[in-house]
Amino acid sequence: MNQSSFLLCANWKMNKNPEEARTYIQQITQLVPKEKQNNFIFFAPALTLSALRQECAHTSFGWGAQNCHYEDKGAFTGENSPLVLKQMGATHCLVGHSERKQFFYEDEILIQKKVKALLKHSIQPVICIGENAEERKKGNSFQVINTQLHGILKNIEFFNSICIAYEPVWAIGSNQPAKSEQISDMQKHIKKLCESEKKNLQFLYGGSVNEENVHTLSQISGVDGFLVGGASLDPQKFFNLSQT
Ligand code: PEP
Repeated sequence: MNQSSFLLCANWKMNKNPEEARTYIQQITQLVPKEKQNNFIFFAPALTLSALRQECAHTSFGWGAQNCHYEDKGAFTGENSPLVLKQMGATHCLVGHSERKQFFYEDEILIQKKVKALLKHSIQPVICIGENAEERKKGNSFQVINTQLHGILKNIEFFNSICIAYEPVWAIGSNQPAKSEQISDMQKHIKKLCESEKKNLQFLYGGSVNEENVHTLSQISGVDGFLVGGASLDPQKFFNLSQT
């Protein structure tokens, strides 16, 4: 890993109960030196957040939810309040993950509201964008990213640094990460788009990052970190990603 600020973000998805989350954080705390812990961020399912919070209290790890609502409270059965996330001490929150789009029909209008709500509470949104296999095959990837990014970023005036996780849908959970050139081209493209909106970019790549490919992927210029699903579930394996 070429930068000291390189981020490793764990998306546990709907895995780990509170006890498992505690054990995981206890184990990875033994592996990661204190001064490197703020390079690690854990996104846990909502029912596990209290346990995560308690274990992370003794560490410098970042942590947060995989989704939130855009209102602080009210009649929104089953949702996570961004205000409560703030009160709990969450540092980050995933927004617009492709599984939210696929299974819960989230669109850019909704995602933008969530981003605004998180920024209001000074929680860093990690905004996921990416094209699907068909869009890539048709040569529409850049256009799709333009639409997603403009839809989310327009009218957001009050921040100048933005964390984007580029996650091509076809690379997630497929054991087939995007090629270095594809990631690099997209990083340049997204950087340009963010510059035109006068925003600094923190660029993460996500999609089948694992111990075998992490070295190659971490060499790509402009990549500031990874969002990792499957390979984040085991603390030793996840830690190993930082050892390249
Ligand atoms: C993800 O779900 O954000 C992800 C990148 O998953 P995986 O690493 O398993 O492809």
